[in-house]
Amino acid sequence: MHIPVCENIHKIKKELPSGVTLVAVSKTKPRELIMALYNDGHRVFGENKVQELVEKYEALPKDIEWHMIGHLQRNKVKFLAPFVSLIHGVDSLKLLRTINAEGARIQRVIPCLLQVHIAAEETKFGLTANQLEELLRGGEFPLFNNIEVKGLMGMASYTDDDQQVRDEFRGLRQLFERVKQQFFSDDTGFDTLSMGMSGDFRLAVEEGSTMVRVGSAIFGERTYPA
Ligand SMILES: *Cc1c(COP(=O)(O)O)cnc(C)c1O
Repeated sequence: MHIPVCENIHKIKKELPSGVTLVAVSKTKPRELIMALYNDGHRVFGENKVQELVEKYEALPKDIEWHMIGHLQRNKVKFLAPFVSLIHGVDSLKLLRTINAEGARIQRVIPCLLQVHIAAEETKFGLTANQLEELLRGGEFPLFNNIEVKGLMGMASYTDDDQQVRDEFRGLRQLFERVKQQFFSDDTGFDTLSMGMSGDFRLAVEEGSTMVRVGSAIFGERTYPA
């Protein structure tokens, strides 16, 4: 059978170095397409809406690793806390508190990435480098026993200017190395740098990404309901 999503993902996987994890971003896409990739051996999927994530988790095989890649509201943490494999977009102390409390309640250590704002656009979420370092230096951070901070996540500017995108990724990589050395030196678990999407994952990998989040290059363009 001719299944384009499988062909697409094979091509992308061939381009990725072996240490780079591919998160197939399946937001808005039907379960059948996820199952086509699942049956082809793929297990890591990303969604950006809690309700859609929970519905797909409930309907699909339990060995899928679900990543929450979108902005997460605190009142929704409880819905995904029991099963989420990685939360990419953590960008406030308040959200960390909520995730930690929920992890404590269900006795789970929840893997998270801290999101850093690297794009020129104002609208994107994320911490500045200063806010990140302030948060990590703060007295409360070491008390989050039910969170494992695995690394950083960022989104580059939406632009045709490859050099700008490259510079943004490079800056995030440097911040990652600095923060790792300064705050996680004894901790081999701080190893994930999530950067790169369909339009820029090649640049991101060249700049040291260890995890790319690719949607439309696998599934085709998204059409949102009106
Ligand atoms: C939608 C989304 C992606 C994937 O975008 P594509 O351009 O379709 O690959 C990656 N990261 C985040 C945070 C997203 O919301």
